[in-house]
Amino acid sequence: MWGWLVVAVLIDIEGVDGAGKGTQSRRLVERIRASGRSCALVGFPRYDATWFGRAVGRFLNGAFGQLDDVHPFLVSLLFAGDRFESREELARALATHDVVVLDRYVASNKAHQGAKASGPERLELVAAIDHLEHGLYGLPRPDRVILLDLAVSTAQELVGRKAARSYTEKAADLQEADGPYLEKVASLYRELAAGDASWRVVGCEQAGALRDIECIGDEIWRLASELLPGAAS
Ligand code: ADP
Ligand code: MG
Repeated sequence: MWGWLVVAVLIDIEGVDGAGKGTQSRRLVERIRASGRSCALVGFPRYDATWFGRAVGRFLNGAFGQLDDVHPFLVSLLFAGDRFESREELARALATHDVVVLDRYVASNKAHQGAKASGPERLELVAAIDHLEHGLYGLPRPDRVILLDLAVSTAQELVGRKAARSYTEKAADLQEADGPYLEKVASLYRELAAGDASWRVVGCEQAGALRDIECIGDEIWRLASELLPGAAS
């Protein structure tokens, strides 16, 4: 049996591919630990750890067709299934740490799948994913979602700097290679951030130039540390 005994503060780092989520979530974990608190890092999709995660990898490699060939509602079930399979591990992390940092979570599913729909279907899809993951699967809602915001063209340059990934032999997977699609994802992310008090937006560019990793990290730390146990309120 498993259950949710949530002790930890749950912080989710979001943004388009190449926005710096991996870089910043690792830095945030180090900083939280250096402050004397215990912290776990969980990243999604868990390509190598779950059955659904492997299916996500196959989808991103084009095994089920091109991006538009598969209805986003069906795609959302794969990403949600990966978290369903991970719920025991997540519950354990939440029960045994002060903080759990997430490198992508439910919001990624909403932004990425919702972006493929238009009109009323867009928000219906977002609501369906919320119902599936937080309602039916009972996954806890994050205390804070931090959106790394930058121009898609800049993010795509950063994807080019990434080391090889386990699930794809391509330099950029199906989604990462599709600029117009990522523009829609970025815009839905901003919409989600505007409509939910638990979100904060971190602008990663200043005067058209990318800010330093350290400088962005300082801002994320400030936003995260407000919620940490023992922090002055
Ligand atoms: P994501 O996990 O959001 O896809 P990553 O953290 O993997 O993004 O970052 C993609 C690449 O960009 C990495 O090589 C990383 O070192 C680099 N990078 C991230 N943020 C910055 C930044 N502010 N300035 C310069 N390089 C960055
Ligand atoms: Mg990453």
